[in-house]
Amino acid sequence: MKAEIIAVGSELLTPFRQDTNSLYLTERLNDIGVEVTFKTIVGDTREHLVQVASVALSRADIVLFMGGLGPTEDDCTREAVAEALGLELRRDPNIVAGIERRFAVRGWKMTANNAKQGDVIAGATVLPNAKGTAPGQWIAGRYEGQEKIILLLPGPPHELKALFEEQCWERLRSKLPPQFIVRRELKVTGLGESHCDARVAPIYQRFPDVQTTILAAAGEIQLHLQCRADSRAAAQQRVDALVSEIEDELGDSVFSDNGDSMEQIVGYYLEMRNKTLAVAESCTGGLVAERITSVSGSSRYFVGGAIVYSNSLKTALAGVPAQLIEKYGAVSREVAAALAEGIRQRSEANLGLALTGIAGPTGGTAEKPVGLVFHALAGDRSTEVVERRFPGDRRLIRWFASQQALDMVRRTLL
Ligand code: ATP
Ligand code: MG
Repeated sequence: MKAEIIAVGSELLTPFRQDTNSLYLTERLNDIGVEVTFKTIVGDTREHLVQVASVALSRADIVLFMGGLGPTEDDCTREAVAEALGLELRRDPNIVAGIERRFAVRGWKMTANNAKQGDVIAGATVLPNAKGTAPGQWIAGRYEGQEKIILLLPGPPHELKALFEEQCWERLRSKLPPQFIVRRELKVTGLGESHCDARVAPIYQRFPDVQTTILAAAGEIQLHLQCRADSRAAAQQRVDALVSEIEDELGDSVFSDNGDSMEQIVGYYLEMRNKTLAVAESCTGGLVAERITSVSGSSRYFVGGAIVYSNSLKTALAGVPAQLIEKYGAVSREVAAALAEGIRQRSEANLGLALTGIAGPTGGTAEKPVGLVFHALAGDRSTEVVERRFPGDRRLIRWFASQQALDMVRRTLL
């Protein structure tokens, strides 16, 4: 079953308001195996509403309108949907009387324009709105010879949710064949987006029933996999099989197969291997420590660290010999290694992690350009140094550097 959600409201076409209702509806529709294939936002203009209604009715099995059910002149969803379906509107005196009573309870008199909220599309089931005046409507209609379910729902989020939960979800579920959607997310690091895609594309071809989306984020690529089947077990089995083939192909570039962040994964490994970590950060200014400690329970494996921005603190807090900085420069392979070894020794952690680089936009030279970062990880037997040149602005370069540093810890503990 395919659904289209239509958010009605001119304010949703301005920079000031966002359609959030459709996120909620999509989640609840997915729960009963209904896929949302289109979302449309349209202003409060009858002519445009009739247009989008006609298009949606021609391509979706279920069409959900939200908003534009109020009493004011610009609220015209009822009229437009009736027109698109070729059905009449009939005023229901019971609804009008109910609205009058709502006003009377507050000591107000209902204004005449409210009466139009009692207009019902011929054959529709009225869905009382416990949180507002405009009722929803459920129409089981036909369009171009096909059966359709059409829902008119109020726009205010609390009214929409209450009405959909109480009167629509179960009713929809009972009318549809049982369908289940299962989703998984893989996170990949250390590979470019096109490189990653080229390697997984041949695998996707063997799983035409699994929907796949590749998203590039800073320092990682996310693969979203989704399958719909008539049992949860069948959908899960297909998604799991695809996950394991992708993991075989991409190997340890996949750092998460359940949506966990890099810092969470690093935490798991440190805890599992019973290791502790300390950091000495220059160009990231504490970002790595911030990410590690954002995970609850990180005190079990993270001992702390130092922000060694100046040369003098690199010496004072991490024991880097001044002559070494003099000779190679603060941003160098040698200083990165000395920082990692120094912080490891002074903190008595099992692993010492260090970063030194040029985040820019100033401070770059031909030899040491903006984006150059040295990452070092010191263990009890050896110290590994990775040199990278990251693209982007200061914020991105610092983020990439933190991701690379955390990934070194992860790979060491694999
Ligand atoms: P109804 O009359 O059906 O109750 P309406 O469109 O007449 O809805 P409005 O007064 O236009 O109601 O909107 C009420 C509030 O709900 C506004 O703050 C509006 O921005 C918000 N709203 C409407 N649609 C959405 C949406 N799709 N996502 C989030 N907020 C919405
Ligand atoms: Mg509106």
